[in-house]
Amino acid sequence: LFVEAALGAGVAVPVDGNGAHYLISVMRIREGDTVLLFDGRAGEWAATAGQVRKRDLVLHCTQQTRPLESVPDFWLCAAPIRKGRIDLVAEKACELGVARLVPVLAERCVVDKVNADRLHAHLVEAAEQCGRTALPALAGLVPLAALLADWPQGRTLFFADETGGAPMRDAFAAHPGPAALLVGPEGGFAPAERALIRAHPSARPISLGPRILRAETAAIAATACWMAINGD
Ligand code: SAM
Repeated sequence: LFVEAALGAGVAVPVDGNGAHYLISVMRIREGDTVLLFDGRAGEWAATAGQVRKRDLVLHCTQQTRPLESVPDFWLCAAPIRKGRIDLVAEKACELGVARLVPVLAERCVVDKVNADRLHAHLVEAAEQCGRTALPALAGLVPLAALLADWPQGRTLFFADETGGAPMRDAFAAHPGPAALLVGPEGGFAPAERALIRAHPSARPISLGPRILRAETAAIAATACWMAINGD
């Protein structure tokens, strides 16, 4: 279970809301039962349930059961897409081990807002389900030009370009260091945007094959491929 608390030996963690509902009503937790917790910073901790009430309980941390995971240095920079689809991208990015999710505003975005709370909830749920001990960082929505202007030195920007690029497996193998994948919106990047990205010194255009994939398919498939080649 993810908790917003700094975990450590002897720390008492009050749990209410959805977390309490899950433990009390779904898992039928009893006083003295053990629960595994993570806070995204201190690894995984075993905690013992104290008094269990109707809508809340307190968990007492006893010992660390796993250290904080090592996270591959890979960012997913993706234009926001329709609700269910961006949720799917967040969930799969978390499962695949992405370090940071960056929503990028592009000219042809059908959706120009991101519900950060909802995306965060999907990241938490996915991390709990797949046993991560660190949550991917969730950046604020950033316009494409600003993203490129502030691009960190030394991070390869793999640009998923349906008009052509190096086969992704070759490009990923050739540039094993810190990386990011840039995926466009439903309508793709506008020609001027594509030119701007391609002119960036860190950009490496990649192809995901001859078929035009939906944005969410492109994001998930290329992330999985990078993880298979360069992930831990
Ligand atoms: N511009 C296209 C159109 O409307 O026909 C489609 C864009 S596609 C649905 C959304 C995004 O997925 C693209 O901007 C690109 O980043 C990525 N993408 C889809 N298929 C791809 C491929 N075969 N190779 C590389 N990137 C791809």
